[in-house]
Amino acid sequence: MTSAPASGGIARNAAPFLHGPEVQAMSEVLASGQWGHGPVTEQFERALADYLGVQDVVALSSGTAALLVALLANGIGPGDEVVLPSLTFAASVQTILFTGAVPRFAEVDPDTLCVTAQTVLDALTPATRAVMPVLYGGRAVDLTVIHNQLRQRGVVVVQDAAHAFGSRTATGRVGADTDVATCFSFDPIKNLTTGQGGAIVPRTREEAAHARRLRLFGVEQSAAERAGATSYTVAGPGLRFDLSPINAAIGLVQLEHFPAIAARRQHLWRTYQRELSVLEGVALVDVGVDRSVPFNCVVRLPDSRSRDAVFRALHRQGIGVGVHYPPNHTQPAFARWHRALPATEQVAGQIISLPFHPGLDDSGIGQAVAALRQAVKAISPPRHLENPGD
Ligand SMILES: *Cc1c(COP(=O)(O)O)cnc(C)c1O
Repeated sequence: MTSAPASGGIARNAAPFLHGPEVQAMSEVLASGQWGHGPVTEQFERALADYLGVQDVVALSSGTAALLVALLANGIGPGDEVVLPSLTFAASVQTILFTGAVPRFAEVDPDTLCVTAQTVLDALTPATRAVMPVLYGGRAVDLTVIHNQLRQRGVVVVQDAAHAFGSRTATGRVGADTDVATCFSFDPIKNLTTGQGGAIVPRTREEAAHARRLRLFGVEQSAAERAGATSYTVAGPGLRFDLSPINAAIGLVQLEHFPAIAARRQHLWRTYQRELSVLEGVALVDVGVDRSVPFNCVVRLPDSRSRDAVFRALHRQGIGVGVHYPPNHTQPAFARWHRALPATEQVAGQIISLPFHPGLDDSGIGQAVAALRQAVKAISPPRHLENPGD
């Protein structure tokens, strides 16, 4: 069996990009004998903090672990409600439930697939203790107009920036805003990858220390302090959520090459934008590309009937299409927290994620868009059951 090239072209919806030196970097960690939490993980944390222009970063074993630990470090638990969009990866919702809190699903703006200050306000209840905006596609979510209001109500903002490593807000990098705790994912298909991993940008030293205890068994002392002592203090809850140096070594190489990857993702997104601008019946979901490092490329079809037909046609031709995401408020596991979200339900039926990763090139995009054009043309006209266009 021959293996597909690592980049995968348009057959893959998303894929990691191997620069090469990752292999050597991992070998060096293996040869060093330090396979558990150690200096390379801490070096990766410092490199991330330098890149983001922040004081500190806490590396975790996954983006999911980062979200869970950030919620726990902010005291979220039983009796609390966390507002988040229904249109996100199930991981966001599961982390809330694992703290003992419950999700409160909010609507998204169909143009950006992100929550807005208004949809967050609409979802708040007296039990809300946290808001988890999801930076869909890499777009920063700006809630500054309601930050004071949220603070007065005792609501913290823990953002799911799994898609948004490298993106910018109006004032700086995503993660640099000290009003919000930011969680990144470094899983294989994210803008920056460690194979598997994640990180929190904490707002305070206390939050950082708390997160570090939660990621290693609740132990107060650092690994270095523990090595020179006959005992240690278990100060609170904690599990194993630390990032292996084997993964951190991948991350250090990926971070070194990140500016080129960020530029590549912006270029590819703009190429799609140009090619799709002349295609009728297909609307591109805007990621705010000038400030964002795009994570994906999502288009909207007029209705779910045409979406399903186009998806099937592209899939049949071996084009790596996806849907991000089936909404969570209609999932069986989250049925108790279902509420009517008409805008989310409508847009979730319209979206398709096109192939998007750094291994693509302009001709691949040309092929994907040509296939999309054919598939859209082949749809029989709608029977006027739904209002086309929007
Ligand atoms: C990837 C992702 C996560 C989870 O991150 P992992 O590193 O895969 O655990 C959470 N939320 C969103 C929106 C994601 O895309």
